[in-house]
Amino acid sequence: MPLRNNRLTDDEYKQQFGDIHPPFESHSAALVEANRCLFCYDAPCTKSCPTSINVPKFIKQITTDNMKGAAYTILTANIMGGGCSRVCPVEKLCEGACVFNLMEEEAIPIAKLQRYATDKVIREKWPLFERKQSTGKKVAIVGAGPAGLSCAHALSREGVDVTIYEKESKGGGLMTYGIAAYKVTPQFCEEEVDYILSLGGIEILYNQELGKDITLDTLQNNYDAVYLAFGVGLARQLEIPGEQLSGVVNAINFIYDIRTNNYPAIPVGDMVAVIGMGMTAIDAATQAKRLGAKEVTLVYRRTQQEMPCTEAELNIAKLDGCKIIWLAAPKEILGENGKVTRLVCHVMKLEASANGRPTPVITDEIITLPVDMVIKATGQMPFEQLVHSNHLENDKGKIESVTNIKGVFAGGDCVNGGKEVVDAIQAGKEGAELILEYLF
Ligand SMILES: Cc1cc2nc3c(=O)[nH]c(=O)nc-3n(C[C@H](O)[C@H](O)[C@H](O)COP(=O)(O)OP(=O)(O)OC[C@H]3O[C@@H](n4cnc5c(N)ncnc54)[C@H](O)[C@@H]3O)c2cc1C
Ligand code: SF4
Repeated sequence: MPLRNNRLTDDEYKQQFGDIHPPFESHSAALVEANRCLFCYDAPCTKSCPTSINVPKFIKQITTDNMKGAAYTILTANIMGGGCSRVCPVEKLCEGACVFNLMEEEAIPIAKLQRYATDKVIREKWPLFERKQSTGKKVAIVGAGPAGLSCAHALSREGVDVTIYEKESKGGGLMTYGIAAYKVTPQFCEEEVDYILSLGGIEILYNQELGKDITLDTLQNNYDAVYLAFGVGLARQLEIPGEQLSGVVNAINFIYDIRTNNYPAIPVGDMVAVIGMGMTAIDAATQAKRLGAKEVTLVYRRTQQEMPCTEAELNIAKLDGCKIIWLAAPKEILGENGKVTRLVCHVMKLEASANGRPTPVITDEIITLPVDMVIKATGQMPFEQLVHSNHLENDKGKIESVTNIKGVFAGGDCVNGGKEVVDAIQAGKEGAELILEYLF
């Protein structure tokens, strides 16, 4: 049976893909939470934020109605603090470190307060930042994702003229094209990019792909420095028989299609298996369910103790009715008439390994799931061709922040192999510092 093309009505779309963490409904509701903060002198919440947002300071500013100050405190540390308040896995970062956890009480809802402090500022483009007089220096950035945008903003504030080359037709990177719409809406992504650009001194050239429309040589010749922030690209293959069958898709493409169609009209199966248990797998599974799949099963080769997603994300999938099979690894995908019909998995067991991390080992047992769609979400691989043809890799085959080409720097997912938005933003800030040091 072919995959169904679901056309959700306006109301269904709003219900299924609307904001999963709604904002505070009133100032007094925000104040009640802000006033619970103990303003800890050693602020473990700040220490656990990769961009070191001064959490007690901005919460204090909210309590004194200094909303401009609160937004400035957040956005100087993290120019995408609004986006991060929606997508950060806060339960393993700031909120997970909040001292209230030690008292077995609800942590301060830092993300919700951060969103409260930044939403209006971003929507109304409050001019919190000033750009220094132009220094005459020009930098090219490849990729308008979190790393590229954060680097661009930091450089432009110092009077550097920045041109971003972006292969898609919108900015925001995976914020716009990857992360589930119920975490961050397309409209907010656009507002956030516009806010960053409102500083001035940053131009984005869309539909410009490095390696196709432009070359690294040209950028080196035309700019004083280059910052590469093109993310990690291609979905990792399972390398098992049957991967070419119709109905087997990769999660990045599946989510990209949902995010780029104004109206989700994405083919989805009735019986869907999602391979993996990271954020991408959870996003793919929940969205397949919300698009109307009857049964969605997440298949992971280890146990809950080792899963890369957070407990909160797992709970979203469970609440959406997704099933989970732990300790199962895909062996082959079977089909009829070129279409996927079954997913065959090895049952695994965990054995202690020398490095202390339990290793999944294949047992004799097999399980077979009837499926009409398989979504692969087992990670991404670097853009090998792009990296290799430009001689950007070190002897371990990786790109470093200071590449082996003079004046060419890199950061974000393309260097760290794929972490979170907040890490890419911090990398962008650090990349800007390296570039400023190089230029002046
Ligand atoms: C499905 C999914 C869900 C995720 N969910 C979360 C989440 O909930 N929370 C979280 O914090 N993180 C999440 N992440 C991770 C997060 O999105 C990334 O860590 C972050 O976006 C990395 O930022 P970046 O700027 O390094 O790269 P990207 O966001 O990938 O941006 C790279 C940009 O470069 C452009 N580009 C690529 N190649 C070229 C080229 N050759 N020429 C020109 N432009 C190019 C791309 O179009 C893109 O705009 C998720 C990732 C995925 C895939
Ligand atoms: S750890 Fe919690 S209580 Fe302490 S400053 Fe941070 S948010 Fe406030």
